[in-house]
Amino acid sequence: MQYSNILVKLSGEALAGDKSLGFDNEIISGVIKQLTTLVNDGFLVSVVIGGGNFWRGRTSGDMDRTTADQIGMLATVMNALYVSDFTKTYNVQSVVMTPFPVGTMTEVFNKDKAIDYLKSGKIVFFAGGTGHPYFSTDSGAALKGCEIGADVLLFAKNIDGVYDSDPRTNKDAIKFEKISCETILEKDLKPVDLSCVVLCKDNKLPIIVFDLNAENGIIKVANGENIGTKIIV
Ligand code: UDP
Repeated sequence: MQYSNILVKLSGEALAGDKSLGFDNEIISGVIKQLTTLVNDGFLVSVVIGGGNFWRGRTSGDMDRTTADQIGMLATVMNALYVSDFTKTYNVQSVVMTPFPVGTMTEVFNKDKAIDYLKSGKIVFFAGGTGHPYFSTDSGAALKGCEIGADVLLFAKNIDGVYDSDPRTNKDAIKFEKISCETILEKDLKPVDLSCVVLCKDNKLPIIVFDLNAENGIIKVANGENIGTKIIV
């Protein structure tokens, strides 16, 4: 087993599928089926979910940025509650943890507790990002990955890797099999947020960007198959 403790980042956009808002249950169910298979295979599995299928602070117009970002963080909590509910279909338990209290709906993050849950075969959903405005859930994923000692961050996206330019607008765009953090920073590529890249580089936490829609993509990547792009740290 190349990895044993994986943290999967799902963007809100990916959860919505072809719709721009809300949820695509078929996609979510497919993702959860893969994650529960990995748990049954002995992996420790945690998930960070974005909120872009409901709200993004940076595109909220003239409103106060801190308030806009707080709404974004709450969107990630709704997403985590929704998606975590699917694990029971596959007889795996899950927990939603947040960096701030959300009454009885989630548990406040505690590193040791999170690791205990993972070791007991539960999937832990880290919602609420970093708990601070001006950050993204990519950075939240890097932070949580470092705290819980993940071996790798798996970014399941609507694109199958990191390219030198946008393949949706440039048919000659070239996909990288591997890319260094330095090249990402030099070329200003932003496959994930830069603060996430920097945190992962500083803490030697590799990132793999791959296609959420690839068949059993999460299982393949977790088992070390070369799909997507590996960001070398
Ligand atoms: N957000 C935040 N701090 C964080 C993480 C998220 O303020 O640590 C807010 C921010 O407004 C962001 C929104 O939550 O736009 C949704 O997160 P993100 O954009 O990362 O979601 P994704 O694009 O992955 O769906």
